[in-house]
Amino acid sequence: MTTRSAAHRTVIVGAGIAGVSAAAALRSSGYEGAIDLLAAEPELPYRRPPVSKEIVRGDKTADEIRIKKAEWYAEQSITLRTGVTVTSIDTEARVVRLGDDETLLYDQLLLATGGRARSPWSAPGVRTLRELSDVPSLQAELTGGHVIVVGAGLIGSEIAASARGLDCDVTLLETAALPLPRLLPPELGELYVELHKSQGADLHTGVMVSTIEPDGDQTVVRAIDGRTWTAPVVVVAVGMKPNIELAEAAGIVIAPPDQGGGILVDAHGRTSAPEVFAAGDVANQPNGVLGGRHRVEHWQGAQNHGTAVGKVMAGGDSAFVEVPWCWSDQYGFNLQVAGWPEGSHDLVVRGSLADRDFVAYLLDDGVVRGAVSIGRPRDIRTARAWIAAGERLDAVLEDGPTS
Ligand SMILES: Cc1cc2nc3c(=O)[nH]c(=O)nc-3n(C[C@H](O)[C@H](O)[C@H](O)COP(=O)(O)OP(=O)(O)OC[C@H]3O[C@@H](n4cnc5c(N)ncnc54)[C@H](O)[C@@H]3O)c2cc1C
Repeated sequence: MTTRSAAHRTVIVGAGIAGVSAAAALRSSGYEGAIDLLAAEPELPYRRPPVSKEIVRGDKTADEIRIKKAEWYAEQSITLRTGVTVTSIDTEARVVRLGDDETLLYDQLLLATGGRARSPWSAPGVRTLRELSDVPSLQAELTGGHVIVVGAGLIGSEIAASARGLDCDVTLLETAALPLPRLLPPELGELYVELHKSQGADLHTGVMVSTIEPDGDQTVVRAIDGRTWTAPVVVVAVGMKPNIELAEAAGIVIAPPDQGGGILVDAHGRTSAPEVFAAGDVANQPNGVLGGRHRVEHWQGAQNHGTAVGKVMAGGDSAFVEVPWCWSDQYGFNLQVAGWPEGSHDLVVRGSLADRDFVAYLLDDGVVRGAVSIGRPRDIRTARAWIAAGERLDAVLEDGPTS
């Protein structure tokens, strides 16, 4: 463990969960230097997952989803600056430049810049949902009218569910054959076809959207096969773009897009530039359990990666090793996914798919590589331990793998 003196300075760009967790870990690991936490958003840092759930439905206020209370930053001697955008980095001079041309010297730098919503289309009625500032205009439009959601991934599906909860007519369009294509194997994707239908959302899969254009006070979504859907508001939820531009311009190595993109880091969060680290959604990281590299876009992954990298920046040397885990809440059902599901995995189901009360283990040659559950969080916790240990399902399930 290296000791850093009080004269040492850490600059953290981005105050999402990865940036805040890293700052907290630096302090809890005994780091005594200065910490500048720079946040482009004007808000006190907040938890993003409720934005597509409780916040958009109006069930929670922004103040109820803060990551930390305002006073915590001062108590921890962390200088939080909101509404401040870093515009460039000089990794040789160890300087970051801010939007107003102010410069800050650093001894070590963390890029926790996350991502922004992708939207290939823009028109007056087109919305995306990633930040709290996206909510007010969308909320004003989700008052019982008709909304089209493009993309039935995690966020699009949640927006569709929230909009149904607000009595909107919902049309949900997805390019893949099934909803949640990046999270679920086909057998389980089918469940979400049924779920959306049973809750009154009009789901269309296999839809390749070509254009979204205004037509009077309506917005028209056109697919390449000629089908069209029209509504006053269209929410585009087709994924996020990692905020890599700062790093790229500074000459820091970026992962190729077909490998997930993002800032390439090692198991300790180090980038290709000296004393520059990256964490959270923006980081393309090796997975110590499953092998390969991933850019994880999940809350707990960003939180734990930020914590792990913060500890390294404080002088620790532990690699980040974690079985990915995420959840999604739709129509009152809590979905949890552990590991990194792939189409080639065999599926063994415990419980009832029809009752939406099950855990499904994803096996590679009998070894547990992933698990999906609705309503059985304890089984997911256990499955994560099995995945980490490389257990065979028939060795750990007491009465053998039966469906
Ligand atoms: C609507 C929504 C719902 C979600 N729901 C779930 C869920 O149910 N379950 C789950 O597991 N995950 C969920 N996620 C994913 C999860 O929220 C993210 O994985 C997590 O927030 C990523 O954290 P991060 O700190 O890496 O990045 P971010 O949260 O993106 O934070 C990065 C911050 O850096 C700032 N920044 C970027 N560039 C600069 C710059 N140049 N200067 C200063 N600041 C900068 C950005 O403004 C941003 O505030 C959801 C995401 C969204 C958007």
